[in-house]
Amino acid sequence: MKGIFPIQQFEGIRTPFYYYDADLLRKTLQTINDEANKHQGFCVHYAVKANAHPRVLRIIREAGLGADCVSGGEIEAALRAGFPADKIVYAGVGKSDWEINLGLEKEIFCFNVESIPELEVINSLAGASGKTARVAFRINPDVGAHTHANITTGLAENKFGIAMRDMEDVIAEAVKMKHVKFVGLHFHIGSQILDMGDFEALCNRINDLQNQLERHQITVEHINVGGGLGIDYQHPNRVPIADFHAYFNTYAKKLRLRPGQTLHFELGRAVVAQMGSLITRVLYIKKGATKQFAIVDAGMTDLIRPALYQAYHKIENMSSDEEKETYDVVGPICESSDVFCKQIDLNCCHRGDLLAIRSAGAYGEIMASGYNCRQLPKGYMNEDLYE
Ligand SMILES: *Cc1c(COP(=O)(O)O)cnc(C)c1O
Repeated sequence: MKGIFPIQQFEGIRTPFYYYDADLLRKTLQTINDEANKHQGFCVHYAVKANAHPRVLRIIREAGLGADCVSGGEIEAALRAGFPADKIVYAGVGKSDWEINLGLEKEIFCFNVESIPELEVINSLAGASGKTARVAFRINPDVGAHTHANITTGLAENKFGIAMRDMEDVIAEAVKMKHVKFVGLHFHIGSQILDMGDFEALCNRINDLQNQLERHQITVEHINVGGGLGIDYQHPNRVPIADFHAYFNTYAKKLRLRPGQTLHFELGRAVVAQMGSLITRVLYIKKGATKQFAIVDAGMTDLIRPALYQAYHKIENMSSDEEKETYDVVGPICESSDVFCKQIDLNCCHRGDLLAIRSAGAYGEIMASGYNCRQLPKGYMNEDLYE
């Protein structure tokens, strides 16, 4: 696999580190804009939690996307990167007072509210600061997604959102409140979804809910369908950009928007996953009775997805063209789950070789921890290394 990464530019950079491809990110954003703009009223936000590297956020902001935040820290990061406050939405089951006040002070586009107690707090904080909070309700649509159990969010058993049967009561409460304005409905069914049928099921559910609300003469300004579009972890080279065409088309065909209504999306993984790789160095090759291990200097503290979700990331040896051999690629952390991949074929590995762990731009660097007193990995944008 020699040759696709500019490894001479990696000289002198401490491993492990994240390497981000700005060109692929821009191309992905262009595709998103081209596909979304084919449809009336589609607004795309970026889910900041996938990757909040300042350079990544700036490029996404330059492409004109809004920001979907799940904490006060993310609102601050989005503002720092130049996202206008009126393109920032704030979701999350546990918003604290300072975070709500920050959103009020900056006059963000919308709070996605997940319970009546939260709505009451937002109403009273807004009253205290003389503001009106724009709110959407996150409805739990009880729609399953064909993805890993830890990343489904739209089932009745999940902690997220307001149950459908409570929706009308919550709206009735909101309409009575003085300092909130009810403007939208919000949904998010999970992540790494590749089956368009799952999004179609969400559309059908939303159509039913809209009909139900219309019987009470309620129409909202906007519908927010969250994110969740998956990427091809198996083939980062062949399929570097997710199928945004099929994704937006599904919503255009299946969701019945009312006149003037806008449709909001919050995409995270599909925007940034493929542009990032975790670059790591082989420390030792350890041969056992039945297998051999490539022990690398990156661990689950740098990229936790394999340990947390049994996620697959393609691995390539950038330093070798030799015959392939089979390895378990493992990290140095004192946990048995600190394994990136078992029984994979790599060009023969030697101490000092650089490996690329691919498709790591989303939920990689941002989820890193200091467990074992390790340093956090740094992220580098390719175009910054050229300078
Ligand atoms: C995580 C999250 C997203 C983004 O999910 P992806 O699968 O990365 O697209 C969008 N909306 C909400 C509310 C989220 O929590």
